[in-house]
Amino acid sequence: MSRVAASLLLMLMGSGAAPGPGPSGPMATAPLRVRSVAPIKLAARGESLAAFGAPSAAAALGTPFDGRCIPAPPRGAQSAPWGPRAGCVAPRSHTSGMLARRALPAGRLARLGATPDLHHGLPGEQLRVGILKPGGGYTIVTLPLETYVSRVLAGEAARDSPPAALEALAITVRTFALANRGRHHADGFDLCDQTHCQVLRPATAGAERAANATAGRVLVFHDKAPASVFYSASCGGRTEIPSAVWPGAENPSYLPSHRDAACGGAPLWSAELRSSELLRALRAAGFAGTTLRDVRIASRNASGRVARLRVAGLRPDRISGQELRVAVGRTLGWQYIKSTVFEIQKNGDLYRFSGRGSGHGVGLCVIGSARLAAEGRTVADILGRYFPGLTIAQSTPVPSPIATPAPDMVVALPEGDEGERAAVLKEALRSRDALARTLGVPLPPPIVLRFHATTDEYERATGRAWFTSAALIDGELHLLPLVILRERGMFERVLRHELVHVLTDSVLAQRPMWVREGAAAYFSGEQRPSGAQRPAFKPASRASCPDDRELQLPVSVGALSNAHARARACFAQQIQAGRNWRDVQ
Ligand SMILES: [Zn+2]
Ligand SMILES: [Zn+2]
Repeated sequence: MSRVAASLLLMLMGSGAAPGPGPSGPMATAPLRVRSVAPIKLAARGESLAAFGAPSAAAALGTPFDGRCIPAPPRGAQSAPWGPRAGCVAPRSHTSGMLARRALPAGRLARLGATPDLHHGLPGEQLRVGILKPGGGYTIVTLPLETYVSRVLAGEAARDSPPAALEALAITVRTFALANRGRHHADGFDLCDQTHCQVLRPATAGAERAANATAGRVLVFHDKAPASVFYSASCGGRTEIPSAVWPGAENPSYLPSHRDAACGGAPLWSAELRSSELLRALRAAGFAGTTLRDVRIASRNASGRVARLRVAGLRPDRISGQELRVAVGRTLGWQYIKSTVFEIQKNGDLYRFSGRGSGHGVGLCVIGSARLAAEGRTVADILGRYFPGLTIAQSTPVPSPIATPAPDMVVALPEGDEGERAAVLKEALRSRDALARTLGVPLPPPIVLRFHATTDEYERATGRAWFTSAALIDGELHLLPLVILRERGMFERVLRHELVHVLTDSVLAQRPMWVREGAAAYFSGEQRPSGAQRPAFKPASRASCPDDRELQLPVSVGALSNAHARARACFAQQIQAGRNWRDVQ
């Protein structure tokens, strides 16, 4: 599979002439503004935010959150400010896949704990951590587990957290690390040092104490493996269930949505974004259109968070609250739309987002736990409140999954989509197994599914135009951002299409491209484009089978759509005449 296998077009464009969200040069936009907010009265549409507790919450916040960008601490700084979940460190893509193992300066390695540290931690329990390099790619360092935990506490805990809060977070961080070790398998390490996984900073004395005091302790469900736990800077006054943030995620009983009086809704935030800025973020995520006419909240979920929004003027014209937050975060920065607990007020071409909380809100609320600790609650109280039903247990060292044989399927997701991992993997394995049975072929070697954060990133990684939606390169399947595949309702279909390539391309390697594309379209269950505005394609004769150039170098979305439909028709004709797929030519 060394060559670039063909890809599938976005068939739901509606109009073939649609200008794509594809590569656009830097757009001239006014600088972004984030307003610093004193406690504000939120818009009086009480239907939503009332669920999040009293609006006077910010007054209860010991250290007023100023809503501004908090830079990473200077080298060697011992303070532990908010990690980038609340700050301004824009996450890099985790999809470059370029691993470089150049050494870091010894001083930085020492601060990151790369030197053997025998003071704490279970002997033998180590994590391979990818340290993002300024120019992209990762430097991999191996850290004892407890060193890692203390560094993460410095990166993720609230400033001036009392010891009980740090210890509760230490147990949560450790549990998260052990439960998510497979996350960067495709990159050759366990966890990265960015908000995608957990942020590392030089450890403070308090962080080291908390890691030591809780060494090896993790949260387990029914005495089994470390539980799949989550935490965020602030739940905004009400915690959230996973599936309300990531469609398809499971909702274990220990991750309920409940009112959190502890954080009381802090921090309150607001941000103003121009229409052109929102348009830029949405186009990068794969939305098509040149004018964003309106952004309006269409519905809220049970917890009061924004569930769906209408983005009038774009195709598709709907997006989930989480997807909007992620799209803006990836393109403009994560400091603007901090959570999905917000109201929108439009003034001319300016959209003012006013909200509360910071992060997805699932699981432990970091601000809330700091306040609970300040009130004298114990570690067990705090964890019991945010993870009801879980048990604190001593973990036993397990070898890094990096050292174990590669799993069948490896999923690489950018920040914001990680909660989709289990659902994506399940769907991919189910489709692969079903297709292998249909085709009568053995299961393929391990494959990496790599979802890109933006369409630009997809194009850079694959050399393919945005309107192809997936490309198989050297056994690695590159896909458009999950948001656009989902919003266009084509996620399962694209996945199946590419899996057919994985399963059939070795047999069909020497055939014309229309055979390979036809097989993928046929067995993935694609129909001819059924867009209301596009006339249904009527296959004329075998003579109309597309040539390789039409499929490989399409001049437009419409041309590719047409070529795919003809490839499918040509393929289907022979199958319907009784030919085995291996013999189509
Ligand atoms: Zn990561
Ligand atoms: Zn909270």
